[in-house]
Amino acid sequence: MKNDLILVAGGGGFIGGHLIAKLRELGHTNIRSVDIKPTEEWYQVFDDVDNVVADLKLKDACEAATKDAVEVYNLAADMGGMGFIENNRALCMLSVLINTHLLEAAQAAGTVQRFFYASSACVYNADKQKSEDVIPLKEADAYPAMPEDGYGWEKLFSERMCRHFREDFDLQTRVARFHNVYGPFGTWDGGREKAPAAVIRKVITAKETGDLNIEIWGDGKQTRSFMYIDDCVEGILKITHSDIIEPLNLGSDELTTINGLVDIVEDIAGVKLERHYKLDAPKGVNGRNSDNTLISELLGWAPGIKLREGMAKTYEWIHAEYLAKHGAAV
Ligand code: NAD
Repeated sequence: MKNDLILVAGGGGFIGGHLIAKLRELGHTNIRSVDIKPTEEWYQVFDDVDNVVADLKLKDACEAATKDAVEVYNLAADMGGMGFIENNRALCMLSVLINTHLLEAAQAAGTVQRFFYASSACVYNADKQKSEDVIPLKEADAYPAMPEDGYGWEKLFSERMCRHFREDFDLQTRVARFHNVYGPFGTWDGGREKAPAAVIRKVITAKETGDLNIEIWGDGKQTRSFMYIDDCVEGILKITHSDIIEPLNLGSDELTTINGLVDIVEDIAGVKLERHYKLDAPKGVNGRNSDNTLISELLGWAPGIKLREGMAKTYEWIHAEYLAKHGAAV
């Protein structure tokens, strides 16, 4: 029902903010958003939402957050792009406290009908991602387990905890493995940004300052797929309300190289830049793509927004943010 209480954990973050926007659009009137950041730092704040600043690593905070909740979306995690997760493995693993305490609190609340957990493509076995000529990752490829150090191990462990809470306590958990999500109202500078936002910022900076050079992490030949935020939010809602109990890929299968991504942004910006490759920078796995066979089969749907289209919308938003921060070019 539209007035059932919905908790969005990590609602001040990128995906959480968009999810709340969508829930409001769908007519939900009783939403609680919880995040550890002060509200001034939230990407989107809505006055008609119960906005709470709390540390969800703490059990008490999770108990207060889940009180009377009918649906729980756990999008809270200490995370960032490759530059952050490769250098902050312990911090990434501590997010296990958030999901553990949220699961316990949700079960104890007795009102929760659905619990969504945001996992990641970083759970996949690293051996399957050594080549740039990727074979898209299927759900079954997560085992035998050899995930991304730190961040990926936490995600895989938390996925399993969701499964066991469902099996042992009948808490209806649902899990999606997100593959690189991008879009407006997300991190675009400061060190936690991911490749699409970082490339856009670098191209805008080059264009605005007239210094037509760009630094690219790695050799630019790494392959990835990037999912536009609207597809992500739609997928979260579909998976949460489905009967699919196993973790499902939620990602685009439109593969690109990082060089290809730079081509797209240069084209949007109308510039051509001199490329410099920083080979010792964190660059993640060599190749990764989402195999969408299972989600297409089970949901009759898969993310489909084209990279060019999503990047143009994201460019527009980051450009406005850039100008607000640095002022227009002289
Ligand atoms: P984000 O960093 O924008 O949002 C996460 C939010 O969680 C932040 O606002 C942060 O302040 C909050 N948070 C961190 N620790 C907290 C705590 N102790 N208590 C309360 N809030 C806390 O990231 P996002 O991109 O919106 O990611 C959301 C979820 O999706 C995360 O679990 C992330 O691991 C997962 N994910 C994201 C991507 C992606 O490409 N963005 C890919 C794979 C998985």
